[in-house]
Amino acid sequence: MELVWFKRDLRAYDHDPLWTAARHGPLYGVYVLEDDYLRHPTTSPLHVSFLLSALSALQEQLRALGGELHVARGDVVKVFQALHERHGITRLWSHQETGLGFTYDRDRAVAAWARELGIPWREFRQHGVFRGLRERDGWADRWHAEITADPTTSLEGPQWCRPDDALASIPSLAELSLSRLPEERADHPEWEAGEHLLQTFLTERGQGYQKGMSAPEEGWVTCSRISPHLALGTLSFRHVFREFMSRKVALKEEPKSPDRTAWQRSLQSFGKRLRWHCHFIQKLEAEPELEFHAMHRHLRGLRPMPDDTTRIDAWSTGHTGYPMVDACMRSLNHNGWLNFRMRAMLVSFACYHLWLPWQLVSERLARKFIDYEPGIHICQVQMQSGVTGINALRMYSPAKQLLDQDPTGSFVQRWVPELAGLPVEQLASALPIGDGAQASAIDYPAPIVEHVEATRSARSKIWSIRSRADSKLESQRVYEKHGSRRRPDRAPRDGKRQR
Ligand SMILES: Cc1cc2nc3c(=O)[nH]c(=O)nc-3n(C[C@H](O)[C@H](O)[C@H](O)COP(=O)(O)OP(=O)(O)OC[C@H]3O[C@@H](n4cnc5c(N)ncnc54)[C@H](O)[C@@H]3O)c2cc1C
Repeated sequence: MELVWFKRDLRAYDHDPLWTAARHGPLYGVYVLEDDYLRHPTTSPLHVSFLLSALSALQEQLRALGGELHVARGDVVKVFQALHERHGITRLWSHQETGLGFTYDRDRAVAAWARELGIPWREFRQHGVFRGLRERDGWADRWHAEITADPTTSLEGPQWCRPDDALASIPSLAELSLSRLPEERADHPEWEAGEHLLQTFLTERGQGYQKGMSAPEEGWVTCSRISPHLALGTLSFRHVFREFMSRKVALKEEPKSPDRTAWQRSLQSFGKRLRWHCHFIQKLEAEPELEFHAMHRHLRGLRPMPDDTTRIDAWSTGHTGYPMVDACMRSLNHNGWLNFRMRAMLVSFACYHLWLPWQLVSERLARKFIDYEPGIHICQVQMQSGVTGINALRMYSPAKQLLDQDPTGSFVQRWVPELAGLPVEQLASALPIGDGAQASAIDYPAPIVEHVEATRSARSKIWSIRSRADSKLESQRVYEKHGSRRRPDRAPRDGKRQR
């Protein structure tokens, strides 16, 4: 049997391992629900529920090809060993995975097991992320070649192994003893249709992307929201890139107009972000320790673990007394998704204003994001919390973000109904809301910290380290390992923005 191991690539189309394996013999498709995954602190019922629906969709796709998805539970090596004893595995096929420490360890265990039994394991890239890459120069060209390559296809459908003893079927959330949180929306229908999200973005919703992406309400409409599908591989990255390129080419054929210009600007921004997707994952691939340690060695241990959870809980539940922060957090807790700018603001507030360690913040947010992608997430949290040493310190003012991104206050008042009816200037004032009788009538906390003082203190602590000569050398090292090479003539100077 040719064992096709599905991981975070839950689709049948544009799947090199599946279609290459099909040339060699009858297939057996398996997904292993790992205990290490289910128990991991970054895994939440939201993720598992989306995963289970993706597995059902994959099951349908494989059945349409005459096959079956076998879902096992437990340890991957044990599952494979049992399959091998019963049926004899000829070869193992999968995509490479840039994940967390436990997936790295598990892959090493699988590799050792396969080697011992003489079972060849062929792994394929799926994101333009390169394993064992020592040198960042030239990465963008390699990335482009990789993601514009043709997928493996076959004129004939695959042959399938049909053992009598099929593995268990896809469990429900309840069977895994998990349940959704009360504040989470019960349905996530939009996450189930990745292709629909992609096409409506490229032809209808995306025109205002460039202008609207930073506002939380507009962003919900104008951003693609395909990220959960890229994270689980229900949409293939190459497919997304191809569709994006076709749309760009089609637009060129259209007569010049303000509409066309808006579309072109938006697609330009979207294309950049598709490259960032892989650029960020490449960082974790090159340095898996980033899961635990700050990129810049001198900025490790910058913020102590708090003695209690008061501050992180206030932030995590949306009760900081900063209306824009609280509205974003509550909307995230409900929807499982938030636009980029507001994610950055939440991290900035937690790590600069509240001086919480980035690891704590990263873990809490990971559980909330339905699109949790370790490479992007961990590197972004590090970047937004100022521990990379190569990025400008972006300390967002919640008041300014409210005035810029929610000028009518409608988003804030929707998610923080305690403040309904207050003028927007008051929502932005970051002072105890109202005065006297009005203040006592509103059930909303006073600001948990003072903005100016908190950000001044954070800036001074970080710059006292970054301005040291040895720290500048360390920043140079980080840049050489991870920095974007889009402008190779400009080596980083401290304070300059890098990705
Ligand atoms: C603190 C923080 C944590 C984040 N965690 C994640 C995460 O776990 N998973 C995740 O996919 N994205 C993460 N992002 C990046 C970004 O916020 C999301 O990719 C984006 O909001 C997803 O929405 P979208 O699909 O509509 O993106 P669009 O704006 O439509 O962009 C299309 C795709 O490009 C990629 N992309 C967009 N922005 C970025 C970016 N800044 N960096 C890297 N790739 C990008 C994503 O794959 C996205 O799906 C994080 C950002 C921050 C600031």
